[in-house]
Amino acid sequence: MTEKTLNIGWLYPDLMSTYGDRGNIIAFQKRCEWRGIKTNLSTINQETKISDLEKLDFIFGGGAQDLEQEIVIKDLQGKKGETIKNLIENGLPALFVCGAPQLMGRYYEPAVGKRIEGLGVFDITTIHPGPNQSRLIGNIIAKVELEGFSTTIVGFENHGGRTQLGKTAKPFAYVIKGFGNNGEDQTEGVIYKYAIGCYFHGPLLPKNPTIADWLIAKSLGKKYKEKVELKSLDDSLENQAHSVIATRLGVGV
Ligand code: GLN
Repeated sequence: MTEKTLNIGWLYPDLMSTYGDRGNIIAFQKRCEWRGIKTNLSTINQETKISDLEKLDFIFGGGAQDLEQEIVIKDLQGKKGETIKNLIENGLPALFVCGAPQLMGRYYEPAVGKRIEGLGVFDITTIHPGPNQSRLIGNIIAKVELEGFSTTIVGFENHGGRTQLGKTAKPFAYVIKGFGNNGEDQTEGVIYKYAIGCYFHGPLLPKNPTIADWLIAKSLGKKYKEKVELKSLDDSLENQAHSVIATRLGVGV
Protein backbone atom coordinates (compact mmCIF):
# COMPACT_ATOMS: atom_id res chain seq x y z
CA MET A 1 0.00 0.00 0.00
CA THR A 2 1.45 3.39 -0.96
CA GLU A 3 1.96 5.90 1.80
CA LYS A 4 -0.53 8.76 1.82
CA THR A 5 0.41 12.37 2.52
CA LEU A 6 -1.77 15.41 3.20
CA ASN A 7 -0.44 18.95 2.69
CA ILE A 8 -1.87 21.32 5.28
CA GLY A 9 -1.85 25.10 4.81
CA TRP A 10 -2.21 27.27 7.91
CA LEU A 11 -3.36 30.83 7.21
CA TYR A 12 -1.10 33.48 8.76
CA PRO A 13 -0.42 31.75 12.12
CA ASP A 14 1.59 34.77 13.34
CA LEU A 15 -1.45 36.99 12.88
CA MET A 16 -4.38 34.62 13.25
CA SER A 17 -4.34 32.17 16.14
CA THR A 18 -6.25 32.73 19.35
CA TYR A 19 -7.62 30.63 22.23
CA GLY A 20 -5.75 27.46 21.32
CA ASP A 21 -6.60 27.44 17.60
CA ARG A 22 -3.26 25.67 16.98
CA GLY A 23 -4.81 22.62 18.66
CA ASN A 24 -6.79 22.07 15.46
CA ILE A 25 -3.57 21.59 13.52
CA ILE A 26 -2.14 19.29 16.20
CA ALA A 27 -5.31 17.16 16.29
CA PHE A 28 -5.48 16.92 12.49
CA GLN A 29 -1.82 15.90 12.24
CA LYS A 30 -1.92 13.44 15.15
CA ARG A 31 -5.06 11.70 13.95
CA CYS A 32 -3.36 11.28 10.57
CA GLU A 33 -0.10 10.08 12.12
CA TRP A 34 -1.90 7.47 14.29
CA ARG A 35 -3.23 5.99 11.06
CA GLY A 36 0.06 6.05 9.16
CA ILE A 37 -0.92 9.08 7.04
CA LYS A 38 1.89 11.63 6.61
CA THR A 39 1.27 15.38 6.82
CA ASN A 40 3.30 18.37 5.64
CA LEU A 41 2.46 21.62 7.38
CA SER A 42 3.13 24.90 5.63
CA THR A 43 2.34 28.46 6.52
CA ILE A 44 0.27 30.65 4.21
CA ASN A 45 1.62 34.17 4.57
CA GLN A 46 2.90 37.18 2.62
CA GLU A 47 5.65 34.99 1.07
CA THR A 48 3.32 32.27 -0.21
CA LYS A 49 3.11 31.75 -3.97
CA ILE A 50 0.05 30.64 -5.92
CA SER A 51 1.83 27.39 -6.83
CA ASP A 52 2.24 26.66 -3.08
CA LEU A 53 -1.51 27.10 -2.53
CA GLU A 54 -2.33 24.75 -5.37
CA LYS A 55 -0.48 21.89 -3.62
CA LEU A 56 -2.70 22.04 -0.52
CA ASP A 57 -5.08 19.29 0.57
CA PHE A 58 -6.53 21.10 3.60
CA ILE A 59 -6.58 24.72 4.79
CA PHE A 60 -6.96 25.96 8.34
CA GLY A 61 -7.47 29.55 9.51
CA GLY A 62 -7.92 30.71 13.11
CA GLY A 63 -9.19 33.76 14.95
CA ALA A 64 -7.70 37.24 15.18
CA GLN A 65 -8.25 40.76 16.37
CA ASP A 66 -9.73 43.29 13.93
CA LEU A 67 -6.33 44.89 13.27
CA GLU A 68 -4.70 41.61 12.25
CA GLN A 69 -7.71 40.74 10.10
CA GLU A 70 -7.13 43.92 8.10
CA ILE A 71 -3.48 43.03 7.48
CA VAL A 72 -4.43 39.53 6.33
CA ILE A 73 -7.22 40.57 3.98
CA LYS A 74 -4.93 43.09 2.28
CA ASP A 75 -2.52 40.29 1.48
CA LEU A 76 -5.34 38.04 0.25
CA GLN A 77 -6.68 40.54 -2.27
CA GLY A 78 -6.18 39.54 -5.88
CA LYS A 79 -4.79 36.27 -7.14
CA LYS A 80 -4.05 34.67 -3.76
CA GLY A 81 -7.60 35.09 -2.45
CA GLU A 82 -9.05 34.07 -5.82
CA THR A 83 -6.99 30.87 -5.74
CA ILE A 84 -8.24 29.97 -2.25
CA LYS A 85 -11.81 30.64 -3.35
CA ASN A 86 -11.40 28.43 -6.45
CA LEU A 87 -9.80 25.61 -4.46
CA ILE A 88 -12.77 25.56 -2.08
CA GLU A 89 -15.17 25.77 -5.01
CA ASN A 90 -13.44 22.64 -6.35
CA GLY A 91 -14.05 20.76 -3.10
CA LEU A 92 -10.94 21.47 -1.02
CA PRO A 93 -11.72 20.80 2.66
CA ALA A 94 -11.06 23.71 5.02
CA LEU A 95 -11.74 24.85 8.56
CA PHE A 96 -12.01 28.55 9.40
CA VAL A 97 -12.53 29.71 12.98
CA CYS A 98 -13.95 33.05 14.16
CA GLY A 99 -11.93 35.84 12.49
CA ALA A 100 -11.10 33.60 9.50
CA PRO A 101 -14.68 32.89 8.34
CA GLN A 102 -15.46 36.59 8.78
CA LEU A 103 -12.79 37.23 6.12
CA MET A 104 -14.06 34.37 3.94
CA GLY A 105 -17.53 35.93 3.97
CA ARG A 106 -18.83 38.86 1.90
CA TYR A 107 -17.68 41.51 4.34
CA TYR A 108 -16.75 42.25 7.95
CA GLU A 109 -17.45 45.60 9.57
CA PRO A 110 -14.97 45.94 12.46
CA ALA A 111 -15.70 47.64 15.79
CA VAL A 112 -13.93 50.76 14.54
CA GLY A 113 -13.08 51.75 10.99
CA LYS A 114 -14.14 50.82 7.51
CA ARG A 115 -15.84 47.73 6.15
CA ILE A 116 -13.42 44.98 5.10
CA GLU A 117 -14.42 43.23 1.88
CA GLY A 118 -14.03 39.45 2.23
CA LEU A 119 -13.32 36.74 -0.33
CA GLY A 120 -16.97 35.71 -0.69
CA VAL A 121 -16.31 32.00 -0.19
CA PHE A 122 -19.25 31.97 2.22
CA ASP A 123 -22.51 33.84 1.69
CA ILE A 124 -22.32 35.55 5.09
CA THR A 125 -21.86 39.09 6.37
CA THR A 126 -20.54 40.15 9.77
CA ILE A 127 -20.99 43.41 11.62
CA HIS A 128 -19.30 44.31 14.90
CA PRO A 129 -21.75 46.60 16.73
CA GLY A 130 -18.94 48.67 18.29
CA PRO A 131 -16.43 48.59 21.14
CA ASN A 132 -19.03 49.39 23.81
CA GLN A 133 -21.30 46.49 22.93
CA SER A 134 -20.89 43.24 24.80
CA ARG A 135 -18.91 40.47 23.15
CA LEU A 136 -20.40 37.00 22.71
CA ILE A 137 -18.23 34.98 25.08
CA GLY A 138 -18.46 31.59 26.75
CA ASN A 139 -18.61 27.85 26.35
CA ILE A 140 -20.90 26.67 23.57
CA ILE A 141 -22.57 23.44 22.48
CA ALA A 142 -24.31 22.95 19.17
CA LYS A 143 -25.78 20.19 17.02
CA VAL A 144 -24.23 19.34 13.68
CA GLU A 145 -25.63 17.24 10.87
CA LEU A 146 -23.17 16.18 8.22
CA GLU A 147 -23.75 13.70 5.40
CA GLY A 148 -25.00 10.64 7.20
CA PHE A 149 -24.23 11.46 10.81
CA SER A 150 -25.24 13.87 13.49
CA THR A 151 -23.28 14.86 16.56
CA THR A 152 -22.91 17.61 19.12
CA ILE A 153 -19.86 19.86 19.13
CA VAL A 154 -18.46 21.78 22.09
CA GLY A 155 -16.14 24.76 22.21
CA PHE A 156 -15.49 28.25 23.44
CA GLU A 157 -16.55 31.42 21.62
CA ASN A 158 -15.36 35.00 21.97
CA HIS A 159 -16.40 37.41 19.25
CA GLY A 160 -17.78 40.88 18.86
CA GLY A 161 -18.91 40.38 15.27
CA ARG A 162 -22.48 39.29 14.60
CA THR A 163 -22.77 37.07 11.54
CA GLN A 164 -25.84 36.78 9.35
CA LEU A 165 -26.28 34.03 6.80
CA GLY A 166 -27.19 35.05 3.26
CA LYS A 167 -29.93 33.33 1.26
CA THR A 168 -27.66 30.62 -0.12
CA ALA A 169 -25.72 29.93 3.10
CA LYS A 170 -26.20 26.74 5.08
CA PRO A 171 -25.46 26.83 8.82
CA PHE A 172 -22.77 24.45 10.03
CA ALA A 173 -24.63 23.81 13.30
CA TYR A 174 -27.55 24.84 15.50
CA VAL A 175 -26.84 26.25 18.95
CA ILE A 176 -28.09 24.29 21.96
CA LYS A 177 -26.41 26.61 24.52
CA GLY A 178 -24.29 29.64 23.74
CA PHE A 179 -24.49 32.48 21.20
CA GLY A 180 -23.34 31.20 17.80
CA ASN A 181 -23.46 33.45 14.74
CA ASN A 182 -25.36 36.33 16.26
CA GLY A 183 -26.94 35.31 19.58
CA GLU A 184 -30.40 35.46 18.01
CA ASP A 185 -31.23 32.93 15.32
CA GLN A 186 -29.63 29.79 16.84
CA THR A 187 -27.43 29.26 13.78
CA GLU A 188 -23.75 28.56 14.25
CA GLY A 189 -21.16 28.91 11.53
CA VAL A 190 -21.57 28.08 7.89
CA ILE A 191 -20.68 25.19 5.61
CA TYR A 192 -20.02 25.37 1.89
CA LYS A 193 -19.04 22.18 0.08
CA TYR A 194 -16.26 20.83 2.38
CA ALA A 195 -15.32 24.18 3.95
CA ILE A 196 -16.51 24.84 7.48
CA GLY A 197 -16.64 28.27 9.10
CA CYS A 198 -17.47 28.43 12.81
CA TYR A 199 -17.07 30.39 16.04
CA PHE A 200 -15.69 27.39 17.93
CA HIS A 201 -12.35 28.02 19.56
CA GLY A 202 -11.42 25.80 22.39
CA PRO A 203 -10.08 24.35 19.99
CA LEU A 204 -12.70 22.56 17.87
CA LEU A 205 -11.00 19.41 16.53
CA PRO A 206 -9.44 17.85 19.67
CA LYS A 207 -12.74 17.92 21.58
CA ASN A 208 -14.83 16.96 18.56
CA PRO A 209 -12.93 14.12 16.85
CA THR A 210 -15.78 13.19 14.49
CA ILE A 211 -15.37 16.59 12.80
CA ALA A 212 -11.59 16.10 12.60
CA ASP A 213 -12.08 12.71 10.96
CA TRP A 214 -14.69 14.06 8.55
CA LEU A 215 -12.18 16.67 7.36
CA ILE A 216 -9.35 14.12 7.12
CA ALA A 217 -11.53 11.68 5.16
CA LYS A 218 -12.66 14.43 2.78
CA SER A 219 -9.06 15.59 2.26
CA LEU A 220 -7.90 12.04 1.46
CA GLY A 221 -10.94 11.38 -0.72
CA LYS A 222 -10.31 14.47 -2.82
CA LYS A 223 -6.58 13.87 -3.20
CA TYR A 224 -6.60 10.13 -3.86
CA LYS A 225 -10.01 9.99 -5.55
CA GLU A 226 -11.23 7.02 -3.55
CA LYS A 227 -13.76 6.28 -0.85
CA VAL A 228 -12.02 6.52 2.52
CA GLU A 229 -12.74 4.35 5.56
CA LEU A 230 -10.61 5.73 8.39
CA LYS A 231 -9.31 3.27 10.98
CA SER A 232 -11.12 3.99 14.26
CA LEU A 233 -9.07 5.35 17.15
CA ASP A 234 -9.45 5.22 20.91
CA ASP A 235 -11.29 8.51 21.52
CA SER A 236 -12.02 8.01 25.21
CA LEU A 237 -9.96 11.06 26.32
CA GLU A 238 -11.40 13.24 23.56
CA ASN A 239 -14.92 12.15 24.47
CA GLN A 240 -14.25 12.89 28.15
CA ALA A 241 -13.11 16.41 27.26
CA HIS A 242 -16.26 16.79 25.18
CA SER A 243 -18.57 15.67 27.97
CA VAL A 244 -16.88 17.90 30.60
CA ILE A 245 -17.94 20.97 28.60
CA ALA A 246 -21.38 19.54 27.80
CA THR A 247 -21.97 18.80 31.50
CA ARG A 248 -20.73 22.25 32.48
CA LEU A 249 -23.37 23.67 30.14
CA GLY A 250 -26.02 21.43 31.71
CA VAL A 251 -26.42 19.33 28.57
CA GLY A 252 -25.85 15.63 29.20
CA VAL A 253 -24.31 14.11 26.07
N1 GLN B 1 -12.31 40.27 15.53
C1 GLN B 1 -13.40 39.39 15.44
C2 GLN B 1 -14.56 39.64 16.37
O1 GLN B 1 -14.39 40.14 17.47
C3 GLN B 1 -12.86 37.97 15.61
C4 GLN B 1 -12.47 37.59 17.01
C5 GLN B 1 -11.84 36.23 17.12
O2 GLN B 1 -11.36 35.70 16.13
N2 GLN B 1 -11.77 35.67 18.31
O3 GLN B 1 -15.65 39.34 16.01
